[in-house]
Amino acid sequence: MPLNPEDIADCVRVLEELVADRGELVGVDAELCRRLMIAAGRVSQPERQEQRMLSSALRKQKAHVRRKTNEAQLERTVIRRQRLQPVFITPDPVARIQAEGGSESAPNPEWDAPALEGVRVCYICKAERTRLHFFYDQLCESCGDYNYQKRSQTADLNGRVVLISGEPGIGIVVGMQTPIARFGSVGFAALASATLRDATAIMIRFMPTITTGLVYRLYLDGEQAVLELIEHVPLGAARETVVFALSTALWRITEMLLGRSLVADVEFPFPEPAYFERLRTAAPGLCTFDSDLHRVRFAARELDAPLVTADPAAARSALAQCERELVALVPPTSLVDRVNESIWLNSTGILSPAQVARRLGMAERTLKRRLAEFDTSYSQLLEEQRKLRACELLRSEASIEEIAERLGYSDASNFTRAFRRWTGENPRAFRRRAATSGGPIR
Ligand SMILES: [Zn+2]
Repeated sequence: MPLNPEDIADCVRVLEELVADRGELVGVDAELCRRLMIAAGRVSQPERQEQRMLSSALRKQKAHVRRKTNEAQLERTVIRRQRLQPVFITPDPVARIQAEGGSESAPNPEWDAPALEGVRVCYICKAERTRLHFFYDQLCESCGDYNYQKRSQTADLNGRVVLISGEPGIGIVVGMQTPIARFGSVGFAALASATLRDATAIMIRFMPTITTGLVYRLYLDGEQAVLELIEHVPLGAARETVVFALSTALWRITEMLLGRSLVADVEFPFPEPAYFERLRTAAPGLCTFDSDLHRVRFAARELDAPLVTADPAAARSALAQCERELVALVPPTSLVDRVNESIWLNSTGILSPAQVARRLGMAERTLKRRLAEFDTSYSQLLEEQRKLRACELLRSEASIEEIAERLGYSDASNFTRAFRRWTGENPRAFRRRAATSGGPIR
């Protein structure tokens, strides 16, 4: 049984009393007396073996304390805390850096870089490390800072593709090889539609499911149809490559849809690159450069050309998929706005929850659940809309009966009751006040 400090204190007290007065030993059993003398002597003058045991026990004890202290410090590093998460989610670099309390290059300023007990070696450079990095538990401070910076490093890749591929006209080459499947459901919906006009309309409408950076618009210019590319984001040095890739791909796909080539003149919003001559055969007609926008012009009657790939059933299902993808793109915060816009079919009709859901391309149950996420419901939103419209209409010439009908109430008294509930005032009083003071809408 291990001795505790009290046992030792007792022992010391007994020995000290014996030193003060050896007479205490009188009457003690001779054998016991002999054991006492031997033990006392060996405690003060241990043999070598006993000495070793003591120092080893001391060393173990120290190491244990050190390990405990170090572990507690290591648990504070960000990487250890992240490993405890059941699922590792890759956050975007900026949000992650802020969450970790550091900046891209400088670690967390609050971090006290605690000293590590004993010798620990950096996993990368194998140098001894004495202080703990705020993010990594196994790296020295300089390796840690370097690697941390690499976690969110960005680099400009403009023009690099040319270095790798050796083809400056990479946009045209990529465009020629782009399969229609690359455009996802939009590609399939366009493929299955009846005419070139339908296919173009589908592509324009659902372009946001492919990219929000670029948008096409189609208009007629006399006998000509013009497809124009609007750039919502500056494409910078990638512009030439992107525009070439997109226009070449669209042209290849159009050929596939029509089962023949389509003559079109193309304008590009940049100077003619030297490599273009070599790839000119990819162009559908006359190419001009240094234009203000990227435009494709072709005979307007071609819009009614039937597609050889038309397939009404496939078109329906691909279109439904496109609609779903488009809805999914809308940020959830605007759902309430979209419901508000959808509730009124026209000046008189109010859509039911099922009809609103159908308009937004989701199941009624889904609509209900998603509105609940915003702490609201169809009936609350309808009520709010009715109130706004009522105030609006009361400023117009419409009679109370008319207003009640337009807001979907069975009669004027039902409307009056509802209006009083919203505003604490009856509609006629509100109307009078509004007329005299332009009174506030409550
Ligand atoms: Zn290192």
